[in-house]
This record gives sequence, structure tokens and C-alpha cells, in this order.
Amino acid sequence: MRRLIFSFCLLLSFVAIAAGQQFDLVVEGGRVIDPESGLDGVRNVGVREGKIVRVSVEALSGRRVVHAAGLVVAPGFIDLHQHGQEMESQRVKALDGVTTALELEIGAPDVAQFLKSKEGHSLIHYGTSASHVAARAAVFGAPLPAEVIGPHAGIPEILPKSGPATDQPATPEQIEAIRERLRTELDAGGLAVGMGIQYTPGATRLEVIDMFRLAAERRLPVFTHARSTGRVEPGSAIEAGSEVIGAAAITGTALHIVHINSTCLRDSLECLSMVEGARARGLDVTTEAYPYIAGMTAVNSALFNPGWREKLGIDYGDLVLPDTGEHLTKARFDELHSSSVTRWVLIFANTEEVVDKVIPHPLVMIASDGATGHPRNAGTYSRVLAQYVREKGTVTLMDAIRKMTLMPAEMLERSTLAARQKGRLQEGADADIVVFDAGTIRDRATFEKPMEPSVGVRYLVVGGAVVVDEGKVVPEVFPGRAILGPGKGRSDANR
Ligand SMILES: [Zn+2]
Repeated sequence: MRRLIFSFCLLLSFVAIAAGQQFDLVVEGGRVIDPESGLDGVRNVGVREGKIVRVSVEALSGRRVVHAAGLVVAPGFIDLHQHGQEMESQRVKALDGVTTALELEIGAPDVAQFLKSKEGHSLIHYGTSASHVAARAAVFGAPLPAEVIGPHAGIPEILPKSGPATDQPATPEQIEAIRERLRTELDAGGLAVGMGIQYTPGATRLEVIDMFRLAAERRLPVFTHARSTGRVEPGSAIEAGSEVIGAAAITGTALHIVHINSTCLRDSLECLSMVEGARARGLDVTTEAYPYIAGMTAVNSALFNPGWREKLGIDYGDLVLPDTGEHLTKARFDELHSSSVTRWVLIFANTEEVVDKVIPHPLVMIASDGATGHPRNAGTYSRVLAQYVREKGTVTLMDAIRKMTLMPAEMLERSTLAARQKGRLQEGADADIVVFDAGTIRDRATFEKPMEPSVGVRYLVVGGAVVVDEGKVVPEVFPGRAILGPGKGRSDANR
């Protein structure tokens, strides 16, 4: 009898455990790929309270079960370089598999305002660096508008018009004022110092080093669009790369060089070997690229100060207005460059051949540099999976996912320990998950139709919430959370 009671109690406790194992969400029977552990196998994934709590071959029960047989289940993609932070962009990012999209290259002009504007209505996770470009413009008396959603199709105002604030050197007092502003922005939750050196050509080499010193003071990385592009010396891409790698060496700051493809163009492999060499000597230098032959930027910015045609090796006609498809002429360029109204232009300066060599490079992570007007906003991740993994076969599926998840997460760990829970499909990680069809995933965005969403992402889970369901964005679900730098906690504690 006692044995029977004991068995009965045992049975009850099993039932209790089983009931306790009811998950909020189960992603069932997909091919789970996790670059950190090397897992590539069919598993069931149990999610509870926004976390991945079980990755198992055993059957799991959930209040919601997503059937993923035949589909890839991977950590959600992390885009370190996304300018368009408005909902329209977030929707196409979600359909491209992105669960976190951060404005780290330049940074929002006002970190606190940016974070406030996103809170409670963001589809995916967001965050920003503290902007050297904006701090400098403010100190020179030409502040950028703080609004995150500007009048230009939702692109934040992050770049000043070419003028004294971009082209003149700063005095020592101004440099200290810029640093002070950046400290405030970092205290508001900035994840790094963002520097668009090509947009502030007046910044001296010493000003650059001083900004790296500031980042070092906070043990935060510098993300940078380097000073120059092309082969013309002085001022080549090689020199520009040397400048920031040198600043990293001098200050001990971690350095992320953005879009090495569009900064270095035909010298991209040389630039990559510089990054490789710096890393081999113990420097913390990383980089990224996007899979397109054109860039895009503000036509009235300092990037188009005299000499740009020689630097980029292109002419007026290689600049195209994204909204109309108009190729510029000298007269039209002059008009737009001198205008105080920001217009964006596509810059056709690279070749397929270069991009094809850059994307597979083991040091290159994928980041989109996305904003409305350029297909990279909507198509970057699917394009890599379609063109480089499936069609050209130059990147393995595991490596592509590594470039989109683990590598950016590890970069982000320089800014926040919270990133350790991202970019992994493991028990204990955040439930940011993409479920896609590796056989059909592809980008549909083109230079003519840049906001066409990608196809092939069947489900996207952000913090445990399903935001893409059977290939469609779920309306009115906003699980996106801020990813904050360490300054935020510090400033809150001091309050
Ligand atoms: Zn850039």
C-alpha cells in the first residue's frame, strides 16, 4: 500500500512538472542553427517570459505552437547600423529577419529623446550611439533637430549641411564642449560614440583622438564612418583606415569601422587586411558590409565637398535621386548641394565584383546602413541568404547566420552585457528568433522599389512575442525594447 501511495505521489509530481513545462511558445521541429555552440539540428524550442528556456529533441507543449518543420530557426538578426528607425522601416526589417536594429554609425542627435520616442511602440529592439557629428554641430551653434522622425520619409536628421560646423577645426574649448555633450548623451543610454568623420572634415586628427579618449574613459567602442573614400592621396581610404586604427591603438578603444565596402571600394580587401593586421596585434577592431553596389547619403553633406568626384572615381550622373530615379547633372548637383533642405542621393560607386569578395570575408559582419530610399533597408539579410548562401554558394548558411547574429552580438558586448543574451539560440538567451525558409528566402527591394519587403521569413519572435506570423507583420504588437549603454544606469543611480 505504502508503495502504491509512493508511486501515486511520484506520478503526481511528474504531472506537476509536466504542467510546469507548459511554454508560452514552442517553435517545433525546425532546423535550429546556433553559431556559438555549432548546433545545426532538428530541435524544439520552448519560450517562456521572453526567454528561450528549452532547446530539445523531446516534444514540448506550448500555449502557442509554431510548426517549423523544413524551416531554419536561428537567432534574430542584429543590425548594428540602421538609420531608419520609424515604423515603416521596422516592418521591412522584421520581414528581413531583423529583431534588433541599432543606429550606431552616427547616432541620434538626442539620445534621451530618441529612446523616449521609441518606448512602447517599437516592433523590434532599438538603441543608438552618442553622436559626435551632432555634438559638434550643436557646439558650433548649428544644432540638428532633435526629432527622430524627420520630414524626409522618416529618416532621422543625423547629418548636418556642409558648412562651418562640419568644415572648420574646433578650438580646444569647443573640443571640450563636444566631449561634455557626448558624456551627457552616453549618460542618457548611448551605446558607443558614433563618428561620421567624412561628414565633419574640419575635425582634426587630434579631435578624433580626443573623441576616442572619451570613449576609452567610458570603456565604450567608437563606431565610425572613416574620413575618406577612394585612392587619391592624401586622403585615401587606406589613410582614413590608418587614422582610426591608429586612434584605437593610441587610446585602447574598441573600434568598429562601418560599411568597409563603401568606404574602401576597390581597396576593400586591402582595408580588410589592415583590420586583420590590427587584430593580430591585439587591437579590438571589427567591421561590417552591406551587399549592394550603391551607397546613399545627404547630397548637401560635407561628403560632397569639392573633390568628391576624384575621390569616389565617379561623376554627377552616378548620383541618383531615389524617389524619382533622376540622374544628377552638374547644375542639379550644385543646386541640391547648396540647399538647406536635405535630399538623399544614391551613389553608384562600387562593383558587384568587390561586394562579392567582401561579403564572404570571415571578419565581415552584415549590417544594412538602412533607411528608406535604398533597398538595403528592406533586403540586406535576405539578399545575403539568397545570393551568397544559396545562389553563389560562397558563404555557408552557418557562417551567414554567424555574420548576422553572433558577431554583432559580440561586438555589442563591448557596450552592454545584455548583448550576451542576444545572437544565440540557446537556453537562457533572449527569445529573439527568426524562422525562415532557406530554400525560398530572397530580397525583393530594388533601387526602383526600395521598400518591397523580403519573402521567406515565416515567423519572427521579438522578446517572446510573435511579430511576423506566417509571413505577415502582426498589427499592434510592440515588444521592441531599448538596448542601453552603461551610462544610463549610472546617471539614474546618481539621481
Ligand atoms: Zn556611412
